[in-house]
Amino acid sequence: MSDAPKKPVRATTDTGAPVPSHEISQSVGPNGPLLLQDFHFLEHMAHFNRERVPERNVHAKGSGAFGYLEVTGDVSQYTKAALFQPGTKTDMLARFSTVAGEMGSPDTVRDPRGFALKFYTSEGNYDLVGNNTPVFFIRDTMKFPHFIRSQKRQPDSGLQDFEMRWDFWTLSPESAHQVTYLMGDRGIPKTFRHMHGFGSHTYLWVNEAGERFWVKYHFKTNQGIQNLTGPEADALAGTDPDAHRRDLFDSIKAGDFPSWTVAVQLIPYEEGLSYRYNIFDVTKVVSQQDYPLIEVGTMVLDRNPENHFAQIEQAAFEPSALVPGIGFSPDKMLQGRIFAYADTHRHRIGPNYHQLPVNAPQVEVASYNQDGAMRYGYRTNHPPYFPNSKGGPEVADDPWADTTFDVSGDIVREKQPLSADDDDFGQARILLTEVMDADERSRLVETVAGTLAGVTPEVRDRVYDYWRAIDKETGDRIAAAS
Ligand code: NDP
Repeated sequence: MSDAPKKPVRATTDTGAPVPSHEISQSVGPNGPLLLQDFHFLEHMAHFNRERVPERNVHAKGSGAFGYLEVTGDVSQYTKAALFQPGTKTDMLARFSTVAGEMGSPDTVRDPRGFALKFYTSEGNYDLVGNNTPVFFIRDTMKFPHFIRSQKRQPDSGLQDFEMRWDFWTLSPESAHQVTYLMGDRGIPKTFRHMHGFGSHTYLWVNEAGERFWVKYHFKTNQGIQNLTGPEADALAGTDPDAHRRDLFDSIKAGDFPSWTVAVQLIPYEEGLSYRYNIFDVTKVVSQQDYPLIEVGTMVLDRNPENHFAQIEQAAFEPSALVPGIGFSPDKMLQGRIFAYADTHRHRIGPNYHQLPVNAPQVEVASYNQDGAMRYGYRTNHPPYFPNSKGGPEVADDPWADTTFDVSGDIVREKQPLSADDDDFGQARILLTEVMDADERSRLVETVAGTLAGVTPEVRDRVYDYWRAIDKETGDRIAAAS
């Protein structure tokens, strides 16, 4: 405990009555059986039995801190969102996590890191739920449950294995870009402080004049990129499985506040529709050569949670928490996540999760939603229905009326089109052969070969071909090394 109370306070039960003892239960004689009437013992034990909420199926192991976003640039010509106006300072919460592991799993596994942000803006909460990589393994949310199951545990043995992972990845060639990123040096960040963050999806920004721009978010670490090698990460997993949580908490406690430079790529609406890559395909990046980063401001984390469970475990991030001036795009992964995140919070924490202090917006909530388990906030003096003539909350103009994108076509169940000059392996190849240097490529060959020990020959052959499709030489080297 960071701050132990100075003066002892009188212990009570949850109903506020004085506690008779913390150590000795009530029994018939000192050596006798316990009594059902020991209400303090019953409450104490029953509450303990219910201390955990269901852990997140994905991103279960996470750590976080509070801070602020300060806008130092001027992007007001691109968005009217209040939080991005020049000089605005907005309170925020960040939660970093691994993806596939359970709540007690080590921090230093080779896995993308969740980079979830909640901005408590003057127009309601804005959540940006991204990763430390700019792309993702798949491009249609329909595949998401399958993808996650392939990363988790075998149903019979309860073991994780690379057979499932490579089986899924090699049968899902759209994964190549993200898998290349993952198997490279940035696949295991040294700490949460030493990694970039990305919004990953393409979103829409709208300015006061109603002009639209596609936007990609970048959070560049000001601590510098630092990574762990596989052996370093394995050693830490044994000696300090909470290494990243510890580093974040201890740094902030010591006054060494991590920060990120917030930048965006902005793509005029029409240009985005004919860009050489499909900007709604989350397995692709938009080249910074074509659309350079524009600086927005700085995000600083300067306050640790006081209670990990209440403020980090129960924190609920959802891409559906949107503010005026910002909209969605037709990215099929994003579209699915708009439903999935809020839905999982309703299941995990309950339908009134927005009322918990960490999730509550810092503006007055005037919603007609009511009741449900654990409801304690309520509005008075208006009826629970609309329309009404009794002064209930009214809708003004739709603030998202101009935040639209064009769609047309028949209702279909078809794969998302790839851009004309593009394929599943092109950007993976650029990353592997143009961004990574020869030493990093050699480490990647070793890393991939190291995952293949228990993989069946049939899947292994597919792994070699998968890498050959990215880069023939690298595929051949992986085959030779495994
Ligand atoms: P640029 O040369 O303009 O950008 C290269 C990007 O790659 C920079 O963001 C850089 O980040 C990042 N990077 C550098 N070294 C590594 C590494 N070892 N592993 C992963 N990322 C690294 O080129 P483009 O924008 O045209 O992108 C080229 C390729 O770079 C893409 O195909 C993609 O794989 C990768 N990339 C692109 C990003 C984007 O949003 N465009 C973002 C991240 C990666 P840093 O500034 O820290 O060096």
